[in-house]
Amino acid sequence: MHFYPMTKQPIITVKDLVKNYGDFAAVKGISFEVYEGEIFGLLGPNGAGKTTTLEIIETLRQKTSGSITVDGFDIESDTDSIKKRIGVQLQAAGYYPNLNLSELIVLFSGLYGVDKSPTEMLEKVALTDKAKAKYKDLSGGQKQRFSIATTLINNPRIIFLDEPTTGLDPQARRNLWDLIREIRDQGTTVVITTHYMDEAEVLCDRVAFVDGGYIIGIDTPDHFIDELVSSGFERKKQVKLANLEDVFINLTGKEWREG
Ligand code: ATP
Repeated sequence: MHFYPMTKQPIITVKDLVKNYGDFAAVKGISFEVYEGEIFGLLGPNGAGKTTTLEIIETLRQKTSGSITVDGFDIESDTDSIKKRIGVQLQAAGYYPNLNLSELIVLFSGLYGVDKSPTEMLEKVALTDKAKAKYKDLSGGQKQRFSIATTLINNPRIIFLDEPTTGLDPQARRNLWDLIREIRDQGTTVVITTHYMDEAEVLCDRVAFVDGGYIIGIDTPDHFIDELVSSGFERKKQVKLANLEDVFINLTGKEWREG
């Protein structure tokens, strides 16, 4: 069951976060909260500071200044507690090339010190028939689904997904949205970055726009859109009742095409 927006309990609190790389200020004093049980999107142009911000919250990068709490733990004094409560997507390079998906799940379970059945984890992401396949032999959508499965191994309270649908076809993208919603509906908070505004609009409960190291707006997609419309904004061209993506989905169907 999806309990947003009934609960607005912050699970991540970022205050005055600054990150300098040498003389260059990538993040210039941002503050925001992520609520428990929501899908929260960080949006903004290339180089805005989204990945830097995420990686600091994930404890993978050091901040220059500011404070962060994750699920009640302070990032400076309780790094290990935070690591135990979050799931982070690995870059592809992190997957041992000679192991199949089942073996990788067993390996990661061991690293996390939990006992997870590979079948159960692969079922969550509709990859049971690929249990014996190697990561490198998966399609783009399957790779993303597998990497999302690995974020769930330690039963995290929050998962972080950095552009999880980049490069995917429209069906694979919609299937991934369903998967992300299911994860949220089961009580896991999801923090996501994306460059696809249609995706953020349908998937995210709230979004923050990041630009030049600042947060320039934070709200629900609906509220942002209503506000723009009420300011008198109108799209130049009358949009047709369907678009080419609708044609694609209508012609090719919605099922898990690539397994
Ligand atoms: P994208 O949408 O392209 O992924 P982003 O919003 O995630 O962009 P970041 O990757 O956080 O942006 O980068 C923010 C700025 O910090 C960029 O100008 C980038 O060049 C710079 N930057 C990132 N990592 C480093 C680093 N290790 N050393 C120096 N500069 C860095």
